[in-house]
Amino acid sequence: MGSGQVTSSVPSEFQGKHVTVAGLGVSGVPAAKVLHARGAVVTVVNDGDDARAREQAAELEALGVTVRLGDGATLPEGTELIVTAPGWKPDKPLFLAAGRAGVPVWGDVELAWRLRGPGAAPWLAVTGTNGKTTTVQMLASILAAAGLRTAAVGNIGVSLLDAVLGEEEYDVLAVELSSYQLHWAPSLRAHSAAVLNLAPDHLDWHGSMAAYAADKGRIYEGNRVACVYNAADGLTEDLVREADVEEGCRAVGFTLGTPGPSQLGVVEGILVDRAFVENRQKNAQELAEVSDVHPPAPHNIANALAAAALARAYGVPATAVRDGLRAFRPDAHRIEHVADIDAVAYVDDSKATNTHAAEASLASYESIVWIAGGLAKGATFDELVARSAKRLRGAVLIGADRALIREALARHAPEVPVVDLERTDTGAMLQAVTEAKRLARPGDTVLLAPACASMDMFTNYNQRGDAFAAAVRELGA
Ligand code: ADP
Repeated sequence: MGSGQVTSSVPSEFQGKHVTVAGLGVSGVPAAKVLHARGAVVTVVNDGDDARAREQAAELEALGVTVRLGDGATLPEGTELIVTAPGWKPDKPLFLAAGRAGVPVWGDVELAWRLRGPGAAPWLAVTGTNGKTTTVQMLASILAAAGLRTAAVGNIGVSLLDAVLGEEEYDVLAVELSSYQLHWAPSLRAHSAAVLNLAPDHLDWHGSMAAYAADKGRIYEGNRVACVYNAADGLTEDLVREADVEEGCRAVGFTLGTPGPSQLGVVEGILVDRAFVENRQKNAQELAEVSDVHPPAPHNIANALAAAALARAYGVPATAVRDGLRAFRPDAHRIEHVADIDAVAYVDDSKATNTHAAEASLASYESIVWIAGGLAKGATFDELVARSAKRLRGAVLIGADRALIREALARHAPEVPVVDLERTDTGAMLQAVTEAKRLARPGDTVLLAPACASMDMFTNYNQRGDAFAAAVRELGA
């Protein structure tokens, strides 16, 4: 983080300003440091008061920052601005008090946006319910293949403050934004942005689907060159229509079918661009082959098209799109091929933690033994099961909320054999994979796409995926 280099002698809009930073942690500590360095009078408030919080508090207090542990609810006297951790819910008493007092609230993204220096790298921004990380990484790979200095940053785990204030210089940034971050980023204006898809998620935080969609839609506000939407998801196109953009900014769709004018799409196994070409009524530009995308599952082709659209909006040549896609491999646990055993493929999509993701995953294979279950987070499984039933050879269910999936299977796929595993100990995944192996026939895919969160049985989705891969290797040995 560059805060160490930023001294209070830098002329600053924060000089003498009373700023409350809500929440220690990944974004709060760097935000407090940089605001303090720019002359703000900083108070950090934090709900928790554990050992880690105390350690962070001590570090900040040594710099002269005031820290209140165990009280994230009360608005400190004299606060002129709140900078919040993105996850803090808008209905917290702190924000209600801020609303009454007319105090603005920014998230870490808003702060980073405001602190960019003159001539700073423009942002190509991506949001959506699923596929954000993959798309942003594909985009960064394409931009790098074009010789541009770039990085995948934001919700992906790389702080925007670091990217904006660090020593590294960038031409353009590939920015992943969550709906929470967008909620707290009122003045963000991306060069171009994409909403990949929109399915109910995090509704308890946003309050309603409409509020969730509206927060996602903020990514299009003030776009200069292109608002990229998913032609198969009308909600994303609606958001473009509602956005207030710069004069001349275009709506550009992506589709897995043949693209119309101002769209990117697929024609006979080729990714083509009919948006960023001369005379788009008649012409199309070949970008890459479907086989250049890894893995070439339909939803991942959609991600590649969205990434390509943003890169093309920035002016990247077609060859760089191809080279960038060829060079890209997704992160672990995203439809990751683990092994083939007895002509059965074993695929780890532990990152499919909601039904929308699992549906995309299940649509990628013809005949599947599905390993699913965990924490449902309020989801229902009827649609997912009804749409995927014809692809299911069998199902093995694990985890706390597996009965919900079992009941959906009984309603919509009664002929599919189901193994219901009660155990939740460390050996459970090995048994699940063993049962799946028993159900599978040559040519099938055993797919871990849980449609649920993992925390009932595992630390996180990574550990769940690792347990699956270890079990597969044990069976294959
Ligand atoms: P995010 O950052 O939005 O969580 P990831 O790229 O990490 O997205 O992918 C998460 C999971 O979502 C993947 O494992 C896959 O199951 C699913 N997924 C990826 N892309 C899409 C898409 N375009 N549509 C639906 N599901 C997708």
